[in-house]
Amino acid sequence: MSVEPNRSRRRPNQKDSGDPFGPLPVWNASSPDPSRIAPDRSGPPVDEQPELRAAPQTGTLLKALGVVLVLSALAVAAILAISGGGGNSTPTPTAESAVVIAPSNAPLLPVASPVDDIAFDPANSGIVICIDAGHGGKDMGFQRTATSNVPAMDESYFNLAIAKELERRLVERGFTVIMTRTGDTEVNVDDFDANKDGQTEMGGTVVGGTMSAGNLDEIQSRIDRCNDQRADLLISLHVDGSSDPAVRGSRVWYSAEREFGQENQAFAALVYEQLEQQMRTVGYPWIGQGVAEIAAAEHASEHAQLQQLLIGPERAELKEPSAMPGVVVEVLTITSDADALFLSSPQGLSTIAAALDQAIVHFVERTLRATG
Ligand SMILES: [Zn+2]
Repeated sequence: MSVEPNRSRRRPNQKDSGDPFGPLPVWNASSPDPSRIAPDRSGPPVDEQPELRAAPQTGTLLKALGVVLVLSALAVAAILAISGGGGNSTPTPTAESAVVIAPSNAPLLPVASPVDDIAFDPANSGIVICIDAGHGGKDMGFQRTATSNVPAMDESYFNLAIAKELERRLVERGFTVIMTRTGDTEVNVDDFDANKDGQTEMGGTVVGGTMSAGNLDEIQSRIDRCNDQRADLLISLHVDGSSDPAVRGSRVWYSAEREFGQENQAFAALVYEQLEQQMRTVGYPWIGQGVAEIAAAEHASEHAQLQQLLIGPERAELKEPSAMPGVVVEVLTITSDADALFLSSPQGLSTIAAALDQAIVHFVERTLRATG
């Protein structure tokens, strides 16, 4: 279940001083190509750029990496121990369950990458995929605070990391890829009145889950990037959050209220199915929160509702809706220790990107090419 982000945790202009690891040590230190995964600061400048994700010092980084790797193994062991228990009980990893496993006995995730066969396909030529990395800049999306096992993390960071890995895969396959953002910035950095409602919010006011003028311009800017490039498909990447740390799993949103509502539903189902398949393949005890139709989701948080404007039908708040099938995917739930650990591991990143990549490949084969 999705809840509104806890605004009391939004500290856009402060460092996460309570986090002994520094921000997100795993990605920066251990990924094969850190420059691809680390936040890209080369984008357009923004005022008062937040310092939250300043790179940690190398010594701290290495120490933190070691700690996080051990903790990752511990938590994974705990998850596997719970999930391997045979019952149908939902794994609810907690700090306690993670530390009772001795590190020497910690089983590692089986390394299985069945979807690494990325091949160029000339038939993908001319097919345009728009990848939207949710949030960015001052809007960090859901934020988790550090627990004894897992450091603090921001949703926006992972949305972009997954987006870049997905982009790499799709480009290798011969698709044309449009990224709504490639750095840690808002898309509408100039406070342009994108939805033409006569209102903007100077300075890109921090985006929570509200339908503020600035937020609506931000959403419209993302829609415009996909529409302007005549994208054939849109995927908006998010990580869910919850006030309950035991809640975890993936969720996919789609809109049936479009002329391509059936395609939306088919794509949503493919994304969901692939997230389950790929995560289970690498041994992660995946949990599904469902494929949800946005109009039927009465209890969607304001946060979710705002993001859903990207894929929804025409609305007074927008200049125009997106012109192609698309989904908003919450790949995991960042407030869960287990999900956060998997999400922040190199294997987690590649597994999630591979799942989204596979869903797109299947959708293109079944729908876009079939209908011409
Ligand atoms: Zn989000």
